[in-house]
Amino acid sequence: MKKAIITGINGQDGAYLASFLLNMGYTVIGFTRKKSNNFKGLEYLKILDKIEVVECDLLNINKVAELLSAIQPDEIYNLAAQSSVYQSYKEPINTFEFNTLSVFNLIESIKNINPKIKLYQASSSEMFGRVKKLPITEESLIHPVSPYAISKVAAHYTCVNYRESYEMFISCGILFNHESYLRNDTFFIKKVIRESLEISLGKRDVLKVGNIDIKRDFGFAKKYVEAMYLMLQQDKPSDFLICSGQSVSLREIIYYIFDKLKISKDLCIIDPTFYRPSDIEDIYGINEKAKKELNWNYDLNFFNVLDILLEEEVKNYKK
Ligand code: NAP
Repeated sequence: MKKAIITGINGQDGAYLASFLLNMGYTVIGFTRKKSNNFKGLEYLKILDKIEVVECDLLNINKVAELLSAIQPDEIYNLAAQSSVYQSYKEPINTFEFNTLSVFNLIESIKNINPKIKLYQASSSEMFGRVKKLPITEESLIHPVSPYAISKVAAHYTCVNYRESYEMFISCGILFNHESYLRNDTFFIKKVIRESLEISLGKRDVLKVGNIDIKRDFGFAKKYVEAMYLMLQQDKPSDFLICSGQSVSLREIIYYIFDKLKISKDLCIIDPTFYRPSDIEDIYGINEKAKKELNWNYDLNFFNVLDILLEEEVKNYKK
């Protein structure tokens, strides 16, 4: 039976990946920064009792090394990160420190303890930032435009460097935005769905948003975690774009949800305090390499995903 460690186990992707790996017959060990954390994703998927949750400060290399020695995993999926672009402007140094040093600590520990351990690193489409040419491919120019993106670029190239220097099995999934019912409330899609539902129930007056004319390539988290697993089953490590291949504007998304819930467009209020100092106008990628080499399949249109998310939100909404 294969053993996998997932860092960031209480995040959106951690929960879906854990569920997927358990179904594949894995023993799953989840790293969390504190045991007292909220594991609502694992509870929602009814898998909390099937996972060994272990406290690990990823900034403490001695602790990381001690745990890897004791567990001797086959695979590590590194999903822990300060993952909010918005928050990274408020806490740039903490974001950079955690998102980069945690990766160094994991890789150095793997190298010293057992270089055969395979590592998946959660890289991000935010690394491309100031986009010059669309669609984005694995070869596109990197030009980060936020502290979050800068931290992800540093972590990504740390992985590439160790892979090339020490022949370690490290694959990076460069994932574009992916959503689910388990997304944290502060992220755009979840916020729009939840707050729109509250407007339709008479519990909120308006939806306040920032720049909604930007476009993003959105996908479904449940399907994206499958690609993470597939990357570690290959003969050779590599980097893969995981995306839907199409971008949609935030305005189109809001109006789609408003239409579904029969809400007037006038209730969408632009609030400049939500604007970011710098933002990506439009971004979408090509997922051909993942489809061809990983045999990953993805054919969902984001409006289909929105239907699924809205239905799940309505079903679980606590009055
Ligand atoms: P998420 O829901 O925000 O989960 C992030 C996880 O990281 C949580 O378990 C969180 O634990 C942990 N974490 C955050 N800051 C930490 C810190 N300072 N010390 C220790 N743990 C910390 O993120 P996600 O959506 O699952 O994303 C998983 C990974 O993919 C992240 O690395 C993210 O940057 C990357 N990514 C996500 C997307 C996306 O659209 N979702 C796209 C591209 C890349 P706490 O609960 O204790 O904070």
